[in-house]
Amino acid sequence: MIAQVVIDLPGIEKLSYYSKTLNDLEVVFPGDWVVVEVKKKLHVGLVVETLREIPPYKLKGITKRLSSIPKVDKKWIDFVIFASRYYHRPLGQVAFNSFPSPLKNPANFLGKQQIIDKKYFSEVSQKRPLEIEKDVVTLQWILNKEQKRCCVRIKENNKPKLLFGITGSGKTRVYFSEIRDLLKEDKNSQILYLVPEIGLTPQLKQSIELYFPDIKQEIYTSTQTPLNRAKTWILASSGKIRLILGTRIATFLPMPALKLIIIDEEHDSSFKQHEGFRFSARDLSIFQAKNINAKIILGSATPSLESLAQVTKGHYDLLKLEKRATGRPVSKVTVIKKTSFSFENGLSEQTLDSIRKHINASNQVLIYLNRKGWAPVLTCTSCGWSSTCVNCSANLVLHKNGSQILMCHFCGYSEDRIENCRVCNSNALKLIGMGTEKLEEKLTHLLPNARILRIDRNTIQKKKQFREYLTKIKNKEVDILIGTQILTKGHDFESVTLVVAVDIESNLKHPDFRASERAFQALMQVAGRAGRHVTDSKGVLEPEFILEVLDTDSAFIQCVTKYEYTDFANKLIDERRQWNLPPFTNIAIIDLSYSDQSVLKTYTDLLLGKVNHQINIEKTKTVTANGPLKVYPERLKRTYRSRLILESKKRSDLHSILFKLRTYLLKGPVKAVVDVDPVDF
Ligand code: ADP
Ligand code: ZN
Ligand code: ZN
Repeated sequence: MIAQVVIDLPGIEKLSYYSKTLNDLEVVFPGDWVVVEVKKKLHVGLVVETLREIPPYKLKGITKRLSSIPKVDKKWIDFVIFASRYYHRPLGQVAFNSFPSPLKNPANFLGKQQIIDKKYFSEVSQKRPLEIEKDVVTLQWILNKEQKRCCVRIKENNKPKLLFGITGSGKTRVYFSEIRDLLKEDKNSQILYLVPEIGLTPQLKQSIELYFPDIKQEIYTSTQTPLNRAKTWILASSGKIRLILGTRIATFLPMPALKLIIIDEEHDSSFKQHEGFRFSARDLSIFQAKNINAKIILGSATPSLESLAQVTKGHYDLLKLEKRATGRPVSKVTVIKKTSFSFENGLSEQTLDSIRKHINASNQVLIYLNRKGWAPVLTCTSCGWSSTCVNCSANLVLHKNGSQILMCHFCGYSEDRIENCRVCNSNALKLIGMGTEKLEEKLTHLLPNARILRIDRNTIQKKKQFREYLTKIKNKEVDILIGTQILTKGHDFESVTLVVAVDIESNLKHPDFRASERAFQALMQVAGRAGRHVTDSKGVLEPEFILEVLDTDSAFIQCVTKYEYTDFANKLIDERRQWNLPPFTNIAIIDLSYSDQSVLKTYTDLLLGKVNHQINIEKTKTVTANGPLKVYPERLKRTYRSRLILESKKRSDLHSILFKLRTYLLKGPVKAVVDVDPVDF
């Protein structure tokens, strides 16, 4: 018998071994994790197939079968095979994509150094940190009429469900209620609960622990320690962990009894991996649910156009929650035209008045500005030079945290702020634009008594600091929160009654065809942060949402003020149909990068020729190829980048071309990455 094994080495597809282990002559089967020797080095591998054939020549045996990592089932192998074919990525790299590093190291399983001790991993920890709190919180399971209707529909069949409900409409309660019912029905079943941001997991984990104290649950994200992830992998794939709360990488955790997948904020682009293996956790989960006959719920206040299109095609069921569950009204929207005062000071006088009003009522204010740093551009008014990164074709952003530095947001390069132009030596340098640091500085002067806290991705990544911030906010030690998009996602700020969005129109100018969809989604999310809870009689204020804009009459702003996502989405859908863009067609891009610009240019043209040639000989005339397309920044971390785009109404044609190019792309001198259904341009 021949065992086909995949390992995590670039460019390697399946390897063949004699299907017995060298020493103890144990037979291996598909789904077994093994150690194999490749080019005199040992690797952890996965047996994906065994063939009942006499090997044509003498094959090497398997070095060892790993009994401490639970075998995966055929369904999981089917899943990785599908992902590998769909995203045109070698099977090994897919299977090992989110495999924890300690399990990837053969030394951990061989000889004396075995750290992977079976007993250690199979012990389920019994600690219940929330025991005390459990008594004081009365769990709320009551569903309103709308929620009940959704739950009934979810139980009807296993067709994917798109749960479209405004923020605060009680989507989370629907998920929880489904989890409870499922566990009641089958106490061994497993649940995968995916969220877009790591920052969202601690709060949610607490609620889950509170609501489901009797089941073993774990977080699976990239910030967990490798050893923790290894434990989780083993316990999830042995069925011992019932519920996994994770980000996109958790999609690949083998869960043999998986019965329910929840994708919260399904429209969020973080579900797509942007580097290396570019998969969509949402799309793969849809496949997986069908593959294993599990339920899947995609929830959002602003569903992606792709998911809405699936509803139109009849592939998903649409479930709606149209009212806020707490009965609180949605925020009243005010659109303010930017004045010269607001250009000067960051916000208009009218907005400042509202901020004072909400703070005086002991409430909190959230200001959303999606730009980190102090000012995004430092430019010379005499010659037009602007400070750019040495590694990337991108502007350096001024940061004023302590010392003044110019920093690249793409590669992290930084230098001291300069006083004279690098080209003409003039001292007439000017800072253009406003980031959150500058807004904070301005507000400190305008509202000297207000306690201001600025939060962006950097502060959120430091777990401990972020937790301190959240406590501060909860304890009302903060009056104004200033934040980028990261702050708008899912966090529950009980005392925020006013949300202000600044400079949102710059998000619309982005060349990505999804720019306005994204901007709308972000605004609905940020608006949803206000007045989520019924506050006590003291200090109750109508929740408000203020937008400061240049053009108050744009169709975009009109829809935002009415919270009309459906109308807006329909308009976008018409546009996409007209311009033949997804979801009305299928696209894939080939991203190319190389240190030398002219070599890259030559190769890109050559590749385009090759693609067109392939289209002709394959008779896959539905496919069109174009390029090179501009990529921003064109130069990133000292490499130049270019892009080809392939499009076809017929997905199978697109795949067949990409499949034919696969080996060619691997061999080329230039680094090439295929991205199927790209979400960022
Ligand atoms: P979403 O996930 O849609 O943003 P949540 O599930 O977080 O909404 O619910 C928002 C708020 O409404 C929460 O404070 C929750 O406790 C409350 N809530 C949810 N369902 C109900 C209900 N049926 N009755 C009363 N309050 C509810
Ligand atoms: Zn100059
Ligand atoms: Zn840079």
